Amino acid sequence: MTQVGPGGVVHDGPPLARATWDRAGLHRGDDAWLEQAWSRAQVLLISPNSATPVDAAGRVLLRSAADAPDGPRRLLGVLDDVPHFAVTAEPDGDGWLTLRDVGASVGDLHAGLLATAIGLEQWHQKHTHCPRCGTPTAETQAGWTRTCPGDGSTHFPRTDPAVIMLVHDGGDLALLGRNPNWPDGRFSTLAGFVEPGETLEGAVAREVFEEVGVVVRDVRYVASQPWPFPASLMLGFTARLDGDPELSLDPVEMAEAGWFTRDEIRRAADWTDDRTETPHPDGIRLQAIPPQFSISRFLIDRWVDGDS
Ligand SMILES: [Zn+2]
Repeated sequence: MTQVGPGGVVHDGPPLARATWDRAGLHRGDDAWLEQAWSRAQVLLISPNSATPVDAAGRVLLRSAADAPDGPRRLLGVLDDVPHFAVTAEPDGDGWLTLRDVGASVGDLHAGLLATAIGLEQWHQKHTHCPRCGTPTAETQAGWTRTCPGDGSTHFPRTDPAVIMLVHDGGDLALLGRNPNWPDGRFSTLAGFVEPGETLEGAVAREVFEEVGVVVRDVRYVASQPWPFPASLMLGFTARLDGDPELSLDPVEMAEAGWFTRDEIRRAADWTDDRTETPHPDGIRLQAIPPQFSISRFLIDRWVDGDS
């Protein structure tokens, strides 16, 4: 663990999960504290489609409270004694980019703050009414709850657990698949949502069997990272092939899948979201793997470097 400024602590792990800070949960309901904190706050602006202002070097631009627009103030936490809030704002000029655009350049601390702010923004947008009685709800607890004026019920932000797994054969082959929505040549680790009543290990084995028809054993937890698109917590695992490696694909979930060597994976490029078509020279099936800030890439790189 390494201490970094301002006020964050950085761990080894997936990029969006490296920074931790004082989330100041005990202050969320303290209006006097919040008002005083706002007067000296740094503010992260988030647009409804999850963009934030960045400078030419790809660093997040925070504003003082005096320069921040009106809107609900969501307390992200306290860093080096400076309160940080997120406020929703429409883009007011050039330089607004999304976490997908700047995930590799913003630094661990701002990546973590952005993931938190985006997760809250996405939840507030999609949960405007009480699920019990249908009355419009209001933000409370500095953005961390919504309260129903009709029945007094309190509602908390959703975090949906999803498993993501690097399946290997115990040797030099890893299993990667291509989603039907992705262009030729892009491959990633398999993933899927955890179902009610299911363990994480059970979800890993079920998703692998459903998507590609192979059985796995030795399911091991590696790391997690928030993935606020819109509300996932990605739980990363490795799993080892048990038995027959022949694949049988679910055509809805999987356009193609295959076993690839470490050398083949090392030769693949990062994919970027603005690349709509990947060149596909004859004989090379694996063209690109996910970008550095994804947990999929973290699992892949870790395995390529020899860990399983
Ligand atoms: Zn209600």
